[in-house]
Amino acid sequence: MVSLGPLHPMKHCPYRCAFCYVLDDFSSYDSLGIDSIIEFLKANADKYNIIYVSGDTDSFAPPRTQQGLNLLNEIVNAVKCDLLFTSRFVFSDSEYDKISNIIEKQKENGFRFYAGTSITRYSESSAYLEPTPIPTPNERINHLKKMKRLGAITMLGLRPFLPVVDVNDYLIILNKVYPDLDIALGECFYFIRNGNVQKRVFPNGIPVEVEKNITTNQKMEFDDNESLWDIWNSKEYENTVEEHCKELGIIFSMHSNDAIEEYKKICKKN
Ligand code: SF4
Repeated sequence: MVSLGPLHPMKHCPYRCAFCYVLDDFSSYDSLGIDSIIEFLKANADKYNIIYVSGDTDSFAPPRTQQGLNLLNEIVNAVKCDLLFTSRFVFSDSEYDKISNIIEKQKENGFRFYAGTSITRYSESSAYLEPTPIPTPNERINHLKKMKRLGAITMLGLRPFLPVVDVNDYLIILNKVYPDLDIALGECFYFIRNGNVQKRVFPNGIPVEVEKNITTNQKMEFDDNESLWDIWNSKEYENTVEEHCKELGIIFSMHSNDAIEEYKKICKKN
């Protein structure tokens, strides 16, 4: 996983999602230039089989859109490997042209190109979770459709599942992206008790029925920070979304690696 790192020492991302783990104790990456990232990827080429440009910041949101696209371009030129980028940003026509050339180059090299976005809610009542200038859910849905037309494998993060979001929001989003979606991802919701994420996601406190599904004092399985997190995990949300994905023929997993392996397995069979 690589990214452009924090925007400024005091601001990790141009966006301010209420549930962003970096607001609590998720480790932010180093701020590295493109050359240093490429050097790192080349030096560690035997340790991975896919590169994620994702993580602790949105590397494609303004003011770093060009830099983020240059990073994708340089990776495709320098490292022969499957590549995935995620962003909540929606690009201009000329930027989509640039992405189209990158996808073409990646395919000529014989590797996969995955394009991901995350949409955490659809209803306006939960818009506070993804404050402006994050593009609207419909704009991000159209972005995924465009990426599909450009030849990318499309991945949608309905992440993290949140108890303040109506589970039907996720089904609405899936129906709208269908049939242009290959992979959907869910995720449990992590927060530090009385921390910044809790205050922003639950401005009126945590409802009693939500507390029932919270496991306290857990390590984060996907980050090596030392903090203990509370985790909200709802089998009801997971099963409802999984079932709907099955009906639509979309791969679903709570873990991106599992979903990608499943995608590759299906491609091999066909
Ligand atoms: S776009 Fe990603 S990194 Fe940026 S605030 Fe939202 S969740 Fe955090």
